[in-house]
Parts: sequence; C-alpha cells; structure tokens
Amino acid sequence: MPPFSQMISNKNFNERYEAFLPDQKSRIELADAHAHMDAVANCTTKDLIANSILTVISNGGTPDSNAATLKLSDNCCIFPALAIGPDSALISEEELQKSIELIKANSGKIVAIGEAGIDYTLAEHGISIEKQKYIFTKMAMLASELSIPISIHCREAGQITYSEALASIINILKDCNVEKAHFHFFNGGIDDVKEIERNNYFISVPPLRSAKRMRVLSAIPIQNIMAETDAPAVGKSPLDVKFSVQLIAEAKHISYEDACRAITENTKAFFNIETKKKPMLRNY
Ligand SMILES: [Zn+2]
Repeated sequence: MPPFSQMISNKNFNERYEAFLPDQKSRIELADAHAHMDAVANCTTKDLIANSILTVISNGGTPDSNAATLKLSDNCCIFPALAIGPDSALISEEELQKSIELIKANSGKIVAIGEAGIDYTLAEHGISIEKQKYIFTKMAMLASELSIPISIHCREAGQITYSEALASIINILKDCNVEKAHFHFFNGGIDDVKEIERNNYFISVPPLRSAKRMRVLSAIPIQNIMAETDAPAVGKSPLDVKFSVQLIAEAKHISYEDACRAITENTKAFFNIETKKKPMLRNY
C-alpha cells in the first residue's frame, strides 16, 4: 500500500456515509475507476455483479502488485492497469526494465498504465522528485506507445502546491504526447480542475465528502468525472463506489440514477471497456 493511503482510516466508513445513500437500492450499472483488487478482501465477483458493479479498474504500482493484478485479468468485472508508481521509484534500472517488459507483453490484458505519478510527500522519505519524474516519464512513454490511458497519483507537500505538482505532471504528459489522463483521488482546487478540463483529462472522486470537493465537482463538466473507491485504502471494496456517485449527484444537482449512468458511461468510454469486455460468468 502506498504511504498516502495509510492516512485515511476505514473505521466506521459505512456509518459515516449511510445517510447519503439513496433510499431505493439501485440496479443501474456502476463502474469503479480506481481500486486495488489484489489487496481487497471479502468482495467476490458475485458481490460485484449483485451490486451491478461490472467495471472495476484495478491498479498495480509495484512489481509485486503488478503480478498480482495481472492474475485478476480473467475476472469478468476486473480490468487491470499496471505501472511503477512513485512509491516504487527507487527500484533498480533492471527491475524497471523488467516491469516495462511485463507491461508490454501483457498489453492485451490491461486497460491503462496505473497507478503512476509524482508524490511530493515521498521526497521527505528519501524518494527524490528527480527519480519520481524519471519513472513517471517512462510510464507516460509507455501509455503513449501502447495508446492506452494513464491513471495518475498527484500529491503536493511542503512548499509545493497541488497546482505545481499538477503542472510538473502535465508537462511530462505533453512531452510524451499522452492525451488520455486520469487524475485519481483528485484533490486540487477550482483552477486545477479548470486546467484538467482545458486538457480534456479526467478526474475521479473518492467516497470522501468535503466542502472543497463539492465545490470542485460543481466546477467541472460531468463528462470529465469518474467515481472511484481506491479500495481497500479508502473504500473497503468497490461496493463503496455508490457513495462517490452520490457525492457527484449532489454536486451536480442530478438524481443518483442519472449520475450512475453518466459516470459509468464516462468510465467505460475512457478505458475502452466495451472493446475489452470479457464474457460474463467466465470466472464467476
Ligand atoms: Zn490507488
């Protein structure tokens, strides 16, 4: 698990959000744009299908989690994304090349490079920004070469603002000609989300309510928004994606059902899910 994820407790998660759930249990299809299914316990394929969550983008980020995530690629609801993330930026050049080869060799099984990115908090833990930028550039080049989207972790720290962290990432995306970029757990402000919209990038929203998040959501078109759980770090499992969708519905003043439809359509289009769709019941 990346260090940032340990900062958020899952304690009483459902209790905190139960109040925001729509009364009626929805049967509308849902999608979770960012989770780590190799680390999620107690959520079966049957659970996903029973809750109409038919698309879960499961991210790697380390050599071990990439291998574990790849093993899930036969699951009818799980779509892998592989990468070397910022918390693994100190891996050897040999390990990096091995990971790049693994990703290329399995390009038919993955829907994105993820999660990759730059995390300024890690610089305080000895993972230099220079090294992180080097690895992130390799990941962006890979997304460009394979013509697949990239799912990005961006985190500010100390003197560096979110806007500055975002700018350093966007510069690399542009240098590498990456067009489809997704900023997961988006934590920027209004100016940042406007920059995302200008570039036609996407953000995804975790199941965590804050006044800032609601303001930011109202400032970007729903066409650029997806829902995520980052399970098991934030949500316990993809089943908690309904809370993220509920936040989006409230911020956009639309019904929960309409938010489900828009978010699911955005996610499937962004990750080209229809063309990669696996037969239902294959591993169920
Ligand atoms: Zn994550």
